[in-house]
Amino acid sequence: MAKKQFKAESKRLLEMMINSIYTQKEIFLRELISNASDAIDKIYYKALTDDRLVFDKDSYYIKIAADKPNRTLTITDTGIGMTKEELENNLGVIAQSGSFAFKRENEAKDGHNIIGQFGVGFYSAFMVADTVTVISKALDSEEAYKWESKGADGYTIEPSAKDSVGTQIILKIKNNSEDNNYDEYLEEYRLRSIIKKYSDFIRYPIKMDVTTHMPKEGSDGKEFEEVTEEQTINSMVPIWRKNKNELTTEDYERFYFDKHYGFDKPLKHLHISADGAVVYRAILYIPEKTPFDYYTKEYEKGLELYSNGVLIMNKCADLLPDYFSFVKGMVDSEDLSLNISREMLQHDRQLQLIAKNIKNKIKSQLQSMLKDEREKYEQFYKSFGRQLKFGVYSDYGINKDELQDLLMFYSSKEKKLVTLDEYVSGMPENQKYIYYAAGDSYDRIEKLPQTEVVADKGFEILYFTDDIDEFAAKVLMKYKDKEFKSVSSGDLGIDSDAGDDPSGKEENANKELFEAMKDLLAGKVKAVKASKRLKSHPVCLSTEGEISIEMEKVLRAMPS
Ligand code: ADP
Ligand code: MG
Repeated sequence: MAKKQFKAESKRLLEMMINSIYTQKEIFLRELISNASDAIDKIYYKALTDDRLVFDKDSYYIKIAADKPNRTLTITDTGIGMTKEELENNLGVIAQSGSFAFKRENEAKDGHNIIGQFGVGFYSAFMVADTVTVISKALDSEEAYKWESKGADGYTIEPSAKDSVGTQIILKIKNNSEDNNYDEYLEEYRLRSIIKKYSDFIRYPIKMDVTTHMPKEGSDGKEFEEVTEEQTINSMVPIWRKNKNELTTEDYERFYFDKHYGFDKPLKHLHISADGAVVYRAILYIPEKTPFDYYTKEYEKGLELYSNGVLIMNKCADLLPDYFSFVKGMVDSEDLSLNISREMLQHDRQLQLIAKNIKNKIKSQLQSMLKDEREKYEQFYKSFGRQLKFGVYSDYGINKDELQDLLMFYSSKEKKLVTLDEYVSGMPENQKYIYYAAGDSYDRIEKLPQTEVVADKGFEILYFTDDIDEFAAKVLMKYKDKEFKSVSSGDLGIDSDAGDDPSGKEENANKELFEAMKDLLAGKVKAVKASKRLKSHPVCLSTEGEISIEMEKVLRAMPS
């Protein structure tokens, strides 16, 4: 049977695409600027092999100009331009990418910086424009052509006039509708912020005429005049592409601040440039202070994700494990498989590799901080230690090995935070367990009758004041073969002079008193028993089974 070709209703397809693949209208500018940058890159790559061409960096740029009265936004580039055929093929055929073809043809050379690949980005212009006009003059071509379209209705191509090589895209910005404000795409401040957000690290200057009000000369600052000057909006060279040695702590702090990662000063930064199985660059920060919403549902973890210097995602959650959710920063990689809208990733294998790599880097950074910068580490631990303990406890404890060496608890002996390793190293030979006592505060735990026997033995006790502590210890079970033991538990593993009364002698002698006490506390306690554990205190509460009094309090306070 003869095979038939699929037919597509191109008008409908275009409409569907324009309105469904992008979640935000503002990205049209990112797409057009990316195309302009690709077009300049193409000249750059050509110049590498063509002696007649000289790539003089200063004459290549992208210019953005808004004309409010005429409602036009014009994006001009000095790139390679398009011939009549190219206008036809690249802008007339949806999902045709001249840039992708170029990349394939030039695979041998380093064509990696080219951004385009899907052949749809250009059409995003129709999200904000009624009419799109493209005037282009290709390199090595005498004529210029004009391509024009109102979207779904098709397009026209006719000869046009243009002196210099390159492309000019004129958008006739839509009128405001009930649901949408389009005027904003003619506002200088808005355009500037979109450029900064998505295209700050495009390698060619993105220029715009910027109007400022300057005090008029001789008016003593009373009168102002408008001064318009051309400014370059983007920073071009991203800080993460720079060499670590060229950068100061202040540079990293400024980036943290500029990016609004936090209001504090970062405690520590990490600049990664990985060139192994997975190639990426990253700048990560460990903040100093806990963000106000950190331990709430509102807090969103994630790192900024760039592909070739173009922002793809604001908060890529998959790049960080929950227990390191406090880390801020960005990742840039060339090897990502993006989906068509470039807002999401297609295959996450690459991303998983990056995420794993990042996790290990953060961990070793924390470890070396603990080892070499104890004070800083404790400061970090005060802000985010709770999250590490949550990490031990959650997901059925699969991360406990990863995290146990980063934990710290307050020590009865040292009167400061110690690691589990320090605790275990300091244990006398006759001590079998890692003892802990849970309570609201160090002061209150200190006064607990149950701590006396253990402390009298000269054994160190870890004070658990965080509601997650005991849960984490239960999941850990042991550290270096030493089991965790609550000072309130029945068998403390301390010689026969402690623990509950095994012979029952005391029990019998005071039977009536105990019965009377039990009646009095009916419903509140299960039994009243004699204990040898008490020294200077007459009585203490103790629990049977796995759940301690402190854990019960937490469980009861949890929303069910
Ligand atoms: P993509 O960038 O993914 O290839 P687009 O829809 O954004 O897809 O663009 C389609 C094609 O049109 C590009 O691949 C390129 O060949 C061509 N093109 C778009 N804008 C320009 C421009 N400013 N200069 C030269 N060619 C361009
Ligand atoms: Mg594109």
